[in-house]
Amino acid sequence: MDRAKIEAYWNDPQRTRDLVSAVTRLVNVKSVKGSPTPDAPFGPGPDAALTEALKLAEELGLSIANYDHYVGLVDLNGRETRLHILGHLDVVGEGSGWSTDPYSCVEKDGILYGRGVSDDKGPMAAALLAMKAVQDLGVPLTANARLILGTDEESGSDDIAYYYAREPYAPYTFSPDADFPVINIEKGSYKPTFGKSWDTETAIPRILAVDGGFRINVVPPEASATLTGLDTEQVKPFCKAVAEQTGAGFTVTQEQGTVRLRCTGKNAHAASPDSGVNAITALLTLFAALPLADCESTRALRALHTLFPHGDNRGQALGIAQSDETSGALTLTFSLFHLDASGCKGRFDSRVPLCAGENNCKNVAESAFARYGFTAEGNMGTPHYVDADSPLVKTLLRCYETYTGVKNAKPLAIGGGTYVHDIPGGVAFGCDFPGFDPKMHAANEQASVGNLLLACKIFTQAICDLCS
Ligand SMILES: [Zn+2]
Repeated sequence: MDRAKIEAYWNDPQRTRDLVSAVTRLVNVKSVKGSPTPDAPFGPGPDAALTEALKLAEELGLSIANYDHYVGLVDLNGRETRLHILGHLDVVGEGSGWSTDPYSCVEKDGILYGRGVSDDKGPMAAALLAMKAVQDLGVPLTANARLILGTDEESGSDDIAYYYAREPYAPYTFSPDADFPVINIEKGSYKPTFGKSWDTETAIPRILAVDGGFRINVVPPEASATLTGLDTEQVKPFCKAVAEQTGAGFTVTQEQGTVRLRCTGKNAHAASPDSGVNAITALLTLFAALPLADCESTRALRALHTLFPHGDNRGQALGIAQSDETSGALTLTFSLFHLDASGCKGRFDSRVPLCAGENNCKNVAESAFARYGFTAEGNMGTPHYVDADSPLVKTLLRCYETYTGVKNAKPLAIGGGTYVHDIPGGVAFGCDFPGFDPKMHAANEQASVGNLLLACKIFTQAICDLCS
């Protein structure tokens, strides 16, 4: 299929109106996960969005099926399926801070606002209309393209687990639920739980309690501690010095004979720890500096400071730092920590490159912990990798380059996992273009109509090229 025909098809102003109308219909159905019912495994919201999307596809003259209310299927023809396009209709909750009604899609100056316009209802509408375009253009195909409308991507992907437990994978799968140009590598992971316990202590000064972090995949923005045996005036100069050294903030208050410490950092996704300030490791830096008694809790905290010095986001001190050319460097975020009178427990979140395995990662970390009397438990998660020279990746990159004018687009390696993480040969393809912030999962989520239209053209070409 040549580009001129696809451009001409999409440059008809009616297509843009159809696109905006399709996105609007999907966004206006609130599809946050709810309690399951016999006919709605992820609650009534996602199921209603599925019904609406299938109705839309049927109106477009495409062949549809509701797969046990887990996913919807839209097929281009009755031939053997060669391509799965995988996206989702469920959304995360709206949160607060919206300037518009999150479940009433509005357009302003070429930008659509509403929950799901970018993640992932806009991209789903684009893929659906691209299938319609392929049909309208009468492209002779030798294989089927199937759009799979998921309904549980945001809460564990039980939708596609159900589907793929019963149906074969397609030779090619792309998921417009991430970034252009194409993501072909998703790192593996290693997120062990480590800890140590001890008998009741009496020595002072010592740390009585610590709590830091709230979610494994977030750089902890806050951590707090209680300390006995020192007063606030003794502690403050250390806080000042450590604040300067780490970029974290400290507040110190006296509370019934103990000192209460609060440390404030900056949150970021655990896969990009350099963008955050880790409050747990900043607090450990402070403990290492304070004149604490030599007792079990102090030794444990100082050991953790040695293994996770503030700013070491690559696992250098733990001994697992590594990188390779295809997938980049290992990243590490010490994200959860708790200490009380009987011991301590923590977790870190590391995203590991393809070269990482048990021998150079898990085993090394476990013996580093063992040197300080800590135990560590947890297995490594496998990476996802599709060869950059595979026909799928090369074809998608070519489609992207053709319509964007970008030259030599390179596939991306990321630390996070996408919808295709467990699908052999699957890649993420769109719909975020570099330079546009869709505010996904946040207030005022947005999508550019121009970008979505561009995605429609790219998908149309991709379906033609992969299925003919
Ligand atoms: Zn998504």
